[in-house]
Amino acid sequence: LQANIDKLQGYLARFRDSGVLNRIGGEDRPAKSGATFDNHSPVDETLICSVAKSGAADIDAAAKAAKAAFPAWRDMDPNERKKILHKIADGIVERAEEIALCECWDTGQALRFMSKAALRGAANFRFFADRAPSARDGQHLPSATLMNITTRVPIGPIGVITPWNTPFMLSTWKIAPALAAGCTVVHKPAEFSPVTARILMEIAEEAGLPPGVWNLVNGFGEDAGKALTEHPDIKAIAFVGESKTGSMIMKQGADTLKRVHFELGGKNPVIVFDDADLDRALDAAIFMIYSLNGERCTSSSRLLVQSSIAEEFTAKLIERVNRIKVGHPLDPTTEIGPLIHQTHFAKVCSYFDIAKSDGATVAAGGAALDQPGYYVRPTLFTGARNDMRVAQEEIFGPVLTAIPFDSEEEALEIANGVQYGLTGYVWTNDLTRALRFTEKLEAGMIWVNSENVRHLPTPFGGVKASGIGRDGGDWSFEFYMEQKHIGLAT
Ligand code: NAD
Repeated sequence: LQANIDKLQGYLARFRDSGVLNRIGGEDRPAKSGATFDNHSPVDETLICSVAKSGAADIDAAAKAAKAAFPAWRDMDPNERKKILHKIADGIVERAEEIALCECWDTGQALRFMSKAALRGAANFRFFADRAPSARDGQHLPSATLMNITTRVPIGPIGVITPWNTPFMLSTWKIAPALAAGCTVVHKPAEFSPVTARILMEIAEEAGLPPGVWNLVNGFGEDAGKALTEHPDIKAIAFVGESKTGSMIMKQGADTLKRVHFELGGKNPVIVFDDADLDRALDAAIFMIYSLNGERCTSSSRLLVQSSIAEEFTAKLIERVNRIKVGHPLDPTTEIGPLIHQTHFAKVCSYFDIAKSDGATVAAGGAALDQPGYYVRPTLFTGARNDMRVAQEEIFGPVLTAIPFDSEEEALEIANGVQYGLTGYVWTNDLTRALRFTEKLEAGMIWVNSENVRHLPTPFGGVKASGIGRDGGDWSFEFYMEQKHIGLAT
């Protein structure tokens, strides 16, 4: 632990001195107003750095830089773009330790999970780098009188708005395909975790990305974020965050007819039938809610367990949950670190009382740790009904709500009985049931007898209040590019 803290101090020294500035058109810039805000670590509430508190004027400068850089980036030989994106991936790998340590300190996420986040970011860049040369590929659809050709062209400057949970990986996930498609970018990272977005930007420019192709503007959602969604030069908004913020962005973008792509909240069920491999189901259920502090959109925050095995399964779960290690995020043995910030910590803690007053049982956890930092015990609520708030609302912490069910029909009704539909996890050894159940389950992504394993060519995204649009594979290009049809008379 101490060795990691010492290394971190070295990496953070420059941010303490100069703060996190905006980067617009290849230049460091404070906010035009001169305003800054303080960024604290959730670990011990100490100051990490000051951050540019930007507004509409800064967004305007960044959007103009992105607009000016767009034609040359769009028209660059895509094989050159491919090379630059691979160099960005190389740079991420070289600085993976710095990224992981800074991200843990900035977000409270445990190092054992975050150490892989940078490498996943590099993999995102490599995946889309390889696809850059074929991004414009179209079809030939001849008719009797026309040689019909389709092609795709990049839509223009993109606004990317990211949240504070796994901010580095999510930034790469949105920005890499935009750049590969030939778009330029204005990125507004979450105000609570600005450090690694800045490191990523530096890596990109060191890799040879031309100035203005990628611009970074820090600040709060209600001013910098809002201005980005309203700017006429920004052609589309790729957003990851809460469902209610997605609604606001849709309204804000209406006047400029903004194209939007939303990856939003979830209240994802893990459904365990009595014929499942219960040991594996138990491991997966625990991993999917208690890793990454439960601050994960795809977390399985509802456990639907068949009544015939509920008692046995829950007893094992309680024992395991009580053994999960909560601690300093830079300690390699820590499984759960502190939550991101005071307000979110208070929100998560509020559900301990809500669960009790709604009639659920706090079977494990249900309390904060009595120490500085925003630490909560991993928590399990049992005996819940689907109409309780702990079964309906996205808590976004290490908190699992267990609901028993008797039949497949009842499991489906409970699973679908929420406003969200991001992921679902089904555990059964009955193949016919798996097919029948997944067919009716309202979710954008479903895993059967598996935790969430991301495969980049597959579509990522949610239904209902969990999102609009898909990322991954060619779906990302569908968003960042326009289809164009050309009919030539023959
Ligand atoms: P949030 O919606 O509060 O903030 C996300 C970003 O939006 C931040 O950068 C914020 O500054 C900005 N923002 C806020 N108001 C804005 C406005 N009016 N206009 C423009 N931008 C605005 O979300 P959060 O609390 O940072 O993140 C947690 C949420 O993100 C959870 O709901 C989680 O499920 C979701 N999430 C979803 C996915 C997914 O893939 N579906 C992935 C990660 C996180």
